[in-house]
Amino acid sequence: MSEQDNVHRETAVPIPILLQRLRQTYPDAHCELHYHSPIQLLTATILSAQCTDERVNGVTPALFARFPRAEDLAAANRDELEKIIRPTGFYRQKARYIQETAHTILQQHGGEVPAEMSDLVQLPGVARKTANVVLGEIYQRAEGITVDTHVKRLSARLGLTDSEDPVKVELDLMAIVPRESWIEISHLFIFHGRRLCKARRPECAVCPLNDVCPAPENQTPRQSSSTMGNER
Ligand code: SF4
Repeated sequence: MSEQDNVHRETAVPIPILLQRLRQTYPDAHCELHYHSPIQLLTATILSAQCTDERVNGVTPALFARFPRAEDLAAANRDELEKIIRPTGFYRQKARYIQETAHTILQQHGGEVPAEMSDLVQLPGVARKTANVVLGEIYQRAEGITVDTHVKRLSARLGLTDSEDPVKVELDLMAIVPRESWIEISHLFIFHGRRLCKARRPECAVCPLNDVCPAPENQTPRQSSSTMGNER
């Protein structure tokens, strides 16, 4: 993927305003998965596919108490592992990914979760979304932007992309968001998506972006871009 962080374009909602308002609303936006080590975050992120963080956090205390390290996950009894993670859905496939990833990390990366995007996306069950979470959270490296269901939905509603494909959404965001905000914007969008800009009934009446958001769901009168430009 080419680096596009210096190629900014006009958007319906100027990115600085969007960031400023969401920062004010969610000053504590952060990754909500619980973990105590890089392999635990990687495992929790694999479990979070098609599942809420809340539900993942419901199974990981037992999972990490029983299998805390990559060695333990790799050697785990598959049936026992599946039973613990079952509430997260797709548990057979996820158990296989977790164990194959743990094996690969032990055999090819000296037991350390890799710090390179190119290595991370080679791990079973790890695509750019998971890799971006790990790079941003563990290594504070902004190689891309985490695009989950909330980031995808908000990006569309706010007119930042016209694509449904997460990789294209990520590219669109990378082209308009300054690189220093790549990690932060995912946290902000995910917080906003969970709390106000929900999939079914977004709470536009109390949303801090309701005067600028072009989404059809938003019936609040909007400001002109020149008025927005004066905001500090
Ligand atoms: S105004 Fe409504 S649709 Fe737009 S960001 Fe806010 S909650 Fe979402």
